[in-house]
Amino acid sequence: MNEFALIYELIAPTSCRREDVLLGIGDDGAVVTPPPGHSLVVVADTVVAGRHFPADFTAADIGYRVAAVNLSDIAAMGATPLWATLGLTLPEPDPEWVREFARGLAESLVPAATALVGGDTTRGPLTATVQIIGALPAGRALTRRGARAGDLVCVSGTLGDAAAGLAAWSAAGDGSPYGHALRERFRRPQPRLALGERLLELATSCIDISDGLLADAGHLAEQSDCAIVLEVARLPLSAALRANCASEAALRLALTGGDDYELCFTLPPTALAALAAPGLPPITPIGRVEAGRGVRVLAPDGATLAFERTGFDHFAAAD
Ligand code: ADP
Ligand code: MG
Repeated sequence: MNEFALIYELIAPTSCRREDVLLGIGDDGAVVTPPPGHSLVVVADTVVAGRHFPADFTAADIGYRVAAVNLSDIAAMGATPLWATLGLTLPEPDPEWVREFARGLAESLVPAATALVGGDTTRGPLTATVQIIGALPAGRALTRRGARAGDLVCVSGTLGDAAAGLAAWSAAGDGSPYGHALRERFRRPQPRLALGERLLELATSCIDISDGLLADAGHLAEQSDCAIVLEVARLPLSAALRANCASEAALRLALTGGDDYELCFTLPPTALAALAAPGLPPITPIGRVEAGRGVRVLAPDGATLAFERTGFDHFAAAD
């Protein structure tokens, strides 16, 4: 038994059971049965210590997050998650750390009814990779490439909170309830799985916001071969963000801050009403799709705002 056998024995019980898992952790491979009449969607994301999270992020925070960002990709495809694998690289086999990591992982995977069916554990700088396999009705998918002129552009939830939370992370002494709410948005992103499944029927294109609205809306525009026009006055900002930041800084975070893991999607205006339903997050129309290319952002007076590509420094009216 290698020194890491203990590790995956600690991780295994945190997983949920699924009847379509014929053989899970413990053999050379997992055996699963795909749902009849469905295609499979495969996503993977890695987090690396010191690069993707603050140094004082707990093991549970890391476990939660590495699964949640994958579930967000599954949501953005309109798919239902089924099974996960975990590649874990650890500086040393520390059972307490792993127990906490597994607790956070379960906090993501269990509510999403996703079974951990295998993985690999090795020694090295702290890195975690999760792969998730999900299902879609055969031949269907919610992609980045179907936006059409005349569609509305919408987002779920509120924008900019996670980036403000990350900025506030090390701001010692910020014990305010708003600071706490923002940090929680970074620490515990909520994958929009129910919304994604609904959007499979309604939306023409979709992406999850990991890099910031401007960058991710840019992917929709480019892959759909259209222009996206956003109105700054319509961006959904939380009370916590408004309380913590001057209005210009709040808008900059909403447009360019990453890590929100909300969905940005396009749909015909007539489809919007169907999204005001129990169990779905608030949806805000923030712009429209036009013929052309790229993303334009309009100020309340209708002037176009200029940004640098990633927009961190420049938030000035273009002339
Ligand atoms: P092998 O040498 O045959 O790859 P391992 O000892 O690496 O076997 O793994 C034994 C079992 O434990 C396998 O079912 C594998 O999928 C599972 N496993 C190993 N590491 C992890 C992990 N980090 N998370 C989940 N399952 C794991
Ligand atoms: Mg083997």
